[in-house]
Amino acid sequence: MSDSVAINDVQDRFDRVMAQVRTRLSKRQYQTWFERASLVGWQGSNLVVGVPNRFYQVWFQSKFSEMVREAAEHVCRAPVSVAFEIDGQAPPAEDAASEPEATSSPPAPPARMEQPQTAVAAPAAPMQDVYPAPFTGSGAEDVPLRLNELYSFDNFIIGPSNSVAHASARAVAQNPGRAYNPLFIHGSVGLGKTHLLHAVCHEFLQRFPDDRVCFLSCEEFTNEFVRSLQRNDVDSFRARFRNVHLLVIDDIHFLKGKERTQEEFFHTFNGLYQSNRQIVLSSDAAPNEIPTLEDRLVSRFTWGLVSQLEQPEMETRMAIVRRKAELMHIRIGNEVVEFIASNFRNNIRELEGALLSTKAYADVLGQPISLEIAAAALKQSLKPAGLGITLERITQLVCEHYGVTVAELRSKRRGRSISEPRQVIMFLARKLTKLSLQEIGDHFGGRDHSTVLYAVRQVEKRYKTDPNFAALLERLADRLGGNLREES
Ligand code: ADP
Ligand code: MG
Repeated sequence: MSDSVAINDVQDRFDRVMAQVRTRLSKRQYQTWFERASLVGWQGSNLVVGVPNRFYQVWFQSKFSEMVREAAEHVCRAPVSVAFEIDGQAPPAEDAASEPEATSSPPAPPARMEQPQTAVAAPAAPMQDVYPAPFTGSGAEDVPLRLNELYSFDNFIIGPSNSVAHASARAVAQNPGRAYNPLFIHGSVGLGKTHLLHAVCHEFLQRFPDDRVCFLSCEEFTNEFVRSLQRNDVDSFRARFRNVHLLVIDDIHFLKGKERTQEEFFHTFNGLYQSNRQIVLSSDAAPNEIPTLEDRLVSRFTWGLVSQLEQPEMETRMAIVRRKAELMHIRIGNEVVEFIASNFRNNIRELEGALLSTKAYADVLGQPISLEIAAAALKQSLKPAGLGITLERITQLVCEHYGVTVAELRSKRRGRSISEPRQVIMFLARKLTKLSLQEIGDHFGGRDHSTVLYAVRQVEKRYKTDPNFAALLERLADRLGGNLREES
């Protein structure tokens, strides 16, 4: 088969995927987002879709990647992984044509957003400014190294949940092969593993610009290995890793159940380890918790340092939202930062998605970002009772009701006039927000979680036995926009 026929085949397959996508979106949404999507490449199971600029890329990744993947799998009847790349065909930044429908009609809000009720204005700010240019290239052999420039140590916010992982990543970038080898970072999805891995590569290359770095996902490692087996050319696969000074493999848990790839990785690992080359791995689980991982690999993965990324605390989440907003040139007040940080707790990617959804929603309405805008934009992803309810609002309302000041409330005073409102705030925060006991305690000058739990239980008891008190609590909850009876 000639090359041009093969290319036509792939293009044809891509067109069928786009036809599938069209059936899943409104006409306007399709025109806004997909009309300029193009085929960049489709090798094996990896489909790369080209999009005009960084704003589209972020949207596609957060809103459409699942749908495109499903459409592609529907067409191919096989698993497909989808990535979105800026295709470089877009007009220059100042050209209005690179904004989604900047002329007569505004962009449709992406899939999960509510359609605004009122007529909407065109986006206030050029959308391609949302993120700076993302990728740099440089690296090992003939394979370009694709690093996200934004995933640097400078852009990584440090808090108690990630400080050890961060420090160890920095140490290996500065002292490769000597600090910890391998460095194994694990943690659940969206907590910054990939970010740290990219940061290691950036810092390493800054210090050792002539050294070779190889960064790939475990899935890529596996696919390339399988391909080399099919081509009967395992030697050139191996050669690729022979002279690498830093090997970084993301999501190594993907090795589970893949015996031959594990075997091959074992040899790659040994070769590099013996020549003191640095190895950095990430995984969604600790080495001994990856099912069906050979013991000899489990043991090797623990030879250096194993560090875990934990779920970030409230302050860390707030700092991350602020930093992301800065990077995306988004103006956002403290109230909204707190709102987003208190409602998206388990996954930093979601935090970022929430910020982007809020920004896009505000742009569609042509209004600055406010708490109301954020609440409307994120409505679908929040618990109904949690909408816009923050510890600050609860405190303000309860203080008003009891006629006390916030300072009095935070003091160590104990009299009933202070302890009752304090307990009521803790109770309402527990019922109407997703904050943890500890986070609520921190708000009151570092009271520990057992104090908060005690307060919540006291109020709960009275709520069940004292109808007047229960009515008061329900009124307060109602004014906040929450409902105590809907909550557990
Ligand atoms: P993982 O690989 O663990 O699933 P990622 O590294 O992809 O997670 O992180 C998800 C998003 O969260 C990325 O945009 C990343 O920049 C961001 N992120 C995670 N941790 C931090 C942090 N400590 N500071 C700033 N951004 C972070
Ligand atoms: Mg990752």
